[in-house]
Amino acid sequence: MKNAVFFTSGKGNQYLYSPYRNQLRLCHPLIIHLFSLEQKGTKLSRWLSAIRKSGSVTIQDVGTFSSSEVAYQLDKYRFLKRNGFLKPSRNINIEGRLKGSDVKKNISTVRQVIFEVTEDCNLNCTYCTYSKFYINKERHDSYLSFENVRHTLTELISRRTPSPSNNLIISFYGGEPLKNFKFIKSVVEFTNSYPRDQISFTYSLSSNGLLLKKYIGFLVEHNFDLSVSLDGDEVANSFRVLKNNKPSFDITTKNLDYVRTHYPEYFEKSISFLTVLHNRNSFKSVHEFFQERYSKVPQMADVNPINLNPLHEKEFHEKLQSKPISPQEEKETIKQMENVHPKVREMSRLTEYYSGFVFKNYLEVISSKRGKVSSKKFIPTATCTPFSIRAYFSADGTILPCEHISPFHGIGTYSDNQLVLDPTGMAKLYNTYYDKISRFCSKCYFIDNCQECLFNAGVETDHPSCSFYIRESGFRKYLMNHYSNIENDYPFYRKTTQTAFYEG
Ligand code: SF4
Ligand code: SF4
Repeated sequence: MKNAVFFTSGKGNQYLYSPYRNQLRLCHPLIIHLFSLEQKGTKLSRWLSAIRKSGSVTIQDVGTFSSSEVAYQLDKYRFLKRNGFLKPSRNINIEGRLKGSDVKKNISTVRQVIFEVTEDCNLNCTYCTYSKFYINKERHDSYLSFENVRHTLTELISRRTPSPSNNLIISFYGGEPLKNFKFIKSVVEFTNSYPRDQISFTYSLSSNGLLLKKYIGFLVEHNFDLSVSLDGDEVANSFRVLKNNKPSFDITTKNLDYVRTHYPEYFEKSISFLTVLHNRNSFKSVHEFFQERYSKVPQMADVNPINLNPLHEKEFHEKLQSKPISPQEEKETIKQMENVHPKVREMSRLTEYYSGFVFKNYLEVISSKRGKVSSKKFIPTATCTPFSIRAYFSADGTILPCEHISPFHGIGTYSDNQLVLDPTGMAKLYNTYYDKISRFCSKCYFIDNCQECLFNAGVETDHPSCSFYIRESGFRKYLMNHYSNIENDYPFYRKTTQTAFYEG
């Protein structure tokens, strides 16, 4: 159950968020006072009669009001009440659970399969998930051979319905995937032999760029979407070192320059960048670097704080994790990056979900369903269900939900001649996770707008916890912070949210 939430912005404006109407409104302070009086059992008509006798009322921390003003606000208060603005809202029903048949269907429509082409890498990045900072499986530097995946690929393709729009994205991930180019080439040749009117393939690859010059011709020929990992300028990139501890920056950037000179169109269209944020770079410096050098905006993510090895956790926080930036620097970064900045995105998201003024289509404008929780059962959290979007095939034969998930969360196995998938077992496993996390979600104010993956919540343990769980007081603070930012720079907010929605 979610209550109506009142909050005051930094500039002193007061707002009401109504979960029942799913709307946010500017609110006179007397409305809030009337609400709290009624909560305490005060009869408002009697209270007004008493004020009428004395002509006015002074309310501590609220102000002095004439009886006619109080009467006017009381009318408004009653209007809001009559129309459900002050009602608590039932939470969405998160008792939805997966069935084996759902997973089976997912398998036959999965959009992307990702191969961990090799665990081996030509870099030795300080923050690598295989470094001392993380609890991880042992690294064996295994390499996939085409024979390891032929059966799996054939099987997955055979489960799909042939049609010209049947497209499967095949992604190559590592380690450094280009260290096992032979595998990549074989998979591309094999999949290319399927008739185009039955199935088409899109290829993508995540690389550190060290071997790019050698293989770029092939990647261009097969129209690969290429993500290159680079953390910014030489200092920013200095955690990304070669095996001999020397910097990798020059090699990667020279290769990128080569691609840009020889394949300018491809560079423009198909190359994107992945950046890890840590204490040697910042949003601002990274954004400036990529704008100046490549006119691109990289995808940025904080150095992974999950699965840390307790023995080195302190060192991780001291040496690797980004330091908080000053409010002034943050302001400048937001101005520069606009819609790409996470805070601006968050602001757009908040407007979309809570303002009540964003409609996805014309029908929504007139829909009477606003604010009414449907009786439909939803699956908790924002976790994608197994194979609904992607599946990650590790070099050691384990299948994982995606490339971000720890190796302990296997959902199947594969080998040269066997693909072991148990849809009912997968559904059961996920359902136990949903059951565990539900006790948080059912009380969480983000429940109907959750963005979290349950694999980040320790669901495999007896004591899962979601670090994004938010109760009423936290939600009030969340709204307060964002609306204060909006009020502080309204023209910027207006500009960015408008384009954010257009850009999806
Ligand atoms: S992180 Fe979670 S929600 Fe995101 S793709 Fe992976 S499994 Fe799905
Ligand atoms: S934020 Fe966490 S606790 Fe809240 S609904 Fe999402 S997963 Fe559940």
